[in-house]
Amino acid sequence: MSDLKCKLLIIGAGPGGYVCAIRAGQLGIDTIVVDEAKPGGTCLNVGCIPSKALIHAADEFHQITSVNDGPLGITAPAPKIDLAKTVAWKDGIVKRLNTGVSGLMKKARVRFVSGRARFLDGKTVSVSDTDVESREITAEYIVIASGSAPVELPFLPFGGDILSSTEALALGNLPESLAVVGGGYIGLELGTAFAKLGTKVTVVEAESRILPTYDKALTAPVAKRLSALNVTVMTDTKAQGFSDGVLATDQGEITATKVLVTVGRRPRTQGIGVEELSLTMDGPFIQIDETCQSSMRGIYAIGDVTGEPMLAHRAMAQGEMVAEHIAGHTVEWDKCAIPAVCFTDPEIVTCGALPDEIEGTKATDFPLAANSRAMTCEREDGFVRVVWRESDHAVVGIQAVGAQMSELSAAFSIAIEMGACLEDIGASIHAHPTQSEGLQEACLKALGQALHI
Ligand code: FAD
Ligand code: NAD
Repeated sequence: MSDLKCKLLIIGAGPGGYVCAIRAGQLGIDTIVVDEAKPGGTCLNVGCIPSKALIHAADEFHQITSVNDGPLGITAPAPKIDLAKTVAWKDGIVKRLNTGVSGLMKKARVRFVSGRARFLDGKTVSVSDTDVESREITAEYIVIASGSAPVELPFLPFGGDILSSTEALALGNLPESLAVVGGGYIGLELGTAFAKLGTKVTVVEAESRILPTYDKALTAPVAKRLSALNVTVMTDTKAQGFSDGVLATDQGEITATKVLVTVGRRPRTQGIGVEELSLTMDGPFIQIDETCQSSMRGIYAIGDVTGEPMLAHRAMAQGEMVAEHIAGHTVEWDKCAIPAVCFTDPEIVTCGALPDEIEGTKATDFPLAANSRAMTCEREDGFVRVVWRESDHAVVGIQAVGAQMSELSAAFSIAIEMGACLEDIGASIHAHPTQSEGLQEACLKALGQALHI
């Protein structure tokens, strides 16, 4: 098969790589993307999209199950779930989006090459595929967007009943019991979904509380809800091994049909030839500057391979910026707010600075128990919190925890990116009754002018 040449070569068609490719194509840059898997990367194929599909199915199931015990005067027959059918529905969404991403790249005149890429030198990559002879691609610029993979614990190797998130999202039958090792983003999102579907879930977390990167106030409503869903949470606990349906931990044994290991993700830098290029690394990640350039001229890196926060929308924003940079536009990474959403129940949203992170700031929260929309949805658990600068009242951070709070994340990041102050948000009319009024009320409360508390 013939060798190829292009101006821009992107390794990886995940959210970072495919967005970079589309924007580069739109800008008239001759672009090739290489991926050994289907376009869309972790996010579309085995991450964000499949997990949110499973979470939705579990929410629907649980809603019907719990309505009988509630005060609404509704009774419903007990629901049943055919997990294989649910997974087939999820696969259908993934397939539609795969086709969509391929179509968008084609429309932008981006060439997609299937296979595994490996650097030969700073301008050349070899691509091998099982079906075809390997070929070389030479490019003026190369973007490494190879993403991340689940961390495997040596004493809990993936395989059989020990699952990574990828296998957990493709199960044909509901496990009777599930031990989740790692109470972070993935463990709690998926653990909650399985618990809602009827699996007996135990979460084993090494730190003293779940989601240890968030402050306690934000995680407390999630911990309370997990308890209400009969999820056992074992903190300060380390797993040690699994055999014959028993997970051994330093705090005792847990009986479990399956074990889901979610203790973080590692950047995919091995096997790409990154070592031979001698790029400067930042721990296990590729070090980049404010335009996502690595230490080697002409080589950029974006997305999970460049470090935390490992989020799809960060990878996308970096990809877009890199395409603009290669097109010669003046750009740089100057984001003061990357929203992060943890799709637990209730959902946690964080954006910008946390309380006490910046000197001269104060934090004020407004409880959803005083929000009428939250009451009408039977979900008064949670709050909206604003972090604001005392000198000029600029809102520099917003955090919230509450049911369906993810939909407010854009309002939070727009407010911070646009430099809104307490008075701006307080004076903006927020539709009634909505949870968004919690943001307005938090700002009014900070000004000593709260109306509904
Ligand atoms: P990836 O999406 O990992 O894509 C990298 C691509 O590179 C892959 O397609 C891979 O096949 C390809 N590749 C790697 N090496 C090579 C090679 N040598 N040759 C050819 N191709 C190669 N983030 C959110 O923002 N919101 C969420 O709700 C969310 N939920 C998640 C749920 C789960 C279960 C998981 C696992 C992750 C979730 N994430 C979420 C994280 C999100 O998926 C990642 O941050 C995002 O996918 C990173 O994008 P990326 O482009 O950097 O890399
Ligand atoms: P994580 O870092 O969120 O959580 C890992 C958890 O495992 C931590 O709480 C850690 O203390 C614990 N842990 C580590 N070693 C342990 C051990 N030996 N025994 C018990 N507990 C242990 O990692 P994750 O959940 O695997 O997710 C990886 C990344 O994927 C996240 O950092 C996030 O960036 C991304 N992600 C994002 C979303 C989202 O945006 N909604 C969803 C899923 C994943």
